[in-house]
Amino acid sequence: MNNKITIAIDGFSSTGKSTVAKQLAKELEYIYVDTGAMYRAVTLFALRNSLISETSFDREGLIAKLPEVDLNFFYDNTLGFAAIYLNEENVEEEIRRMEVSGYVSQVAAVSEVREKLVAEQQQMGKEKGIVMDGRDIGTVVFPDAELKIFMNASAEERAERRFKEMQQKGQAVSFEEVLKNVQDRDHQDTTREDSPLILAEDAIEIDNSYLTPEDQFRIVLELAEEKIAEQKVI
Ligand code: C5P
Repeated sequence: MNNKITIAIDGFSSTGKSTVAKQLAKELEYIYVDTGAMYRAVTLFALRNSLISETSFDREGLIAKLPEVDLNFFYDNTLGFAAIYLNEENVEEEIRRMEVSGYVSQVAAVSEVREKLVAEQQQMGKEKGIVMDGRDIGTVVFPDAELKIFMNASAEERAERRFKEMQQKGQAVSFEEVLKNVQDRDHQDTTREDSPLILAEDAIEIDNSYLTPEDQFRIVLELAEEKIAEQKVI
């Protein structure tokens, strides 16, 4: 009997969703999908095709070119998780740059982009046994997910974490720049018309401002194990 479940992890940017989702997928031997990487890859595509800049956004141009966007995940042994490929090119690193972060929420607000990516995400999760993180996983992509987690932390704490990560990668950014990006994306992601970031009714909210990564993982793993055990009984 297949008693695998679907785990949706939503929340604000830099709340450590992907860290906990990856750990959980590894422990449960589930597939992990980072949907933020998909929106970032489409944004990189838009930038490379000069469809978005500081002064303009050619939405119609991007919509027309969407059929040319081919996204795939392939497991990377060195990283220990699946890296994202845009038209057969590994863009895992490039999509994390500040330039992409600056435009991604505008691209993610385009309904046609969401339609394409949501359909691909649903396809990836149709056999269950998946941990997916994003903004609309428990509300739109998998409204029937057995376990929905919503992660939160203060904007300052999240910016601090992101800033340290970027510094370690040698990216030249200031803390203020990172904080502003976190706050701007929070605003855009929660106020957009299509699939705004909201807490699903049946989601369990975890504020990890004061939790160690180990404690957080333990809490989420316990919740997942409970849900899996319930499946076995049914
Ligand atoms: O998770 P990450 O911070 O990499 O996501 C980047 C951006 O992609 C978010 O700020 C949001 O605008 C968008 N996104 C989304 N829906 C998802 C995942 C990400 O709109 N499911």
